[in-house]
Amino acid sequence: SVKDKVAVVTGSNSGIGLGVAEELARQGARVVLNSYTDSEDDHALAARIAEDHGTECIYVSADLSNGDACRALIETAAQKMGRVDILVNNAGIQHVAGIDEFPAEKWDAIIAINMTSNFHTTAAALPLMRKAGWGRVVNIASAHGLTASPYKSAYVAAKHGVVGMTKVVALETAQEPITANAICPGYVMTPLVEKQIPETMEKYGMDRDTAVKEVLLARQPSKEFATVEQIGGTVAFLCSDAATQITGTTISVDGGWTAL
Ligand code: NAD
Repeated sequence: SVKDKVAVVTGSNSGIGLGVAEELARQGARVVLNSYTDSEDDHALAARIAEDHGTECIYVSADLSNGDACRALIETAAQKMGRVDILVNNAGIQHVAGIDEFPAEKWDAIIAINMTSNFHTTAAALPLMRKAGWGRVVNIASAHGLTASPYKSAYVAAKHGVVGMTKVVALETAQEPITANAICPGYVMTPLVEKQIPETMEKYGMDRDTAVKEVLLARQPSKEFATVEQIGGTVAFLCSDAATQITGTTISVDGGWTAL
């Protein structure tokens, strides 16, 4: 169980990361929140989660486009919480454009934040997990870590990279009490996705239900969004005793997308 374990969740002041942090806190984990900002709201959010769930929760700012900052996040978490048992690599950004028009700086930022940050945080966290004799690495990849869509070259490349690196981490820790897995969500209802609904309704002249089912969820056979609570529950499952022999694999939470 995650009770009293220390979990670092990257990119967790919003969306899926926040949902994962909240679920781990609900189950008794001590949680480190992160994003690149360092506002009063960020620290207030950590205090609110600690209060709601009767656990410890702190906020540590780090811009994960920078490798040294990724490693410093793990070191600060270990200093402040005494250990790092669970690492959830969740921070991510998106940009949509044809490959011939894709801005090179967007490519670099997506590869750095969505993929290379996982290398740095994992490299810093594994020695701590080894010392503690238990560890879980959970990478939030995507259906786009297993399949592609047009106009998302950097994102699809980064997420495939995350799935590949997950397998390597699993092999390097195979005979230790550490596992590494990737969760591959389809469309999840987050503020980011919610914002696209009125835009899509307007663009296609559709009502909300039609815009959601026929445009946003065109490739999600269930025609339902996954929820951040469901992703949080999947992370918690991967941290449970039942998942001890689950390593180096992906769990899709995509309403059937990758079965198509
Ligand atoms: P979101 O924008 O709500 O959250 C992204 C988080 O990453 C935020 O907390 C943001 O502050 C943080 N972040 C961005 N750049 C950062 C940086 N440089 N340093 C540190 N933190 C940074 O988006 P989300 O939908 O919750 O996405 C979270 C993860 O889930 C991403 O990796 C995304 O690719 C993945 N994902 C999302 C969906 C979906 O439908 N929402 C589907 C599949 C995968």
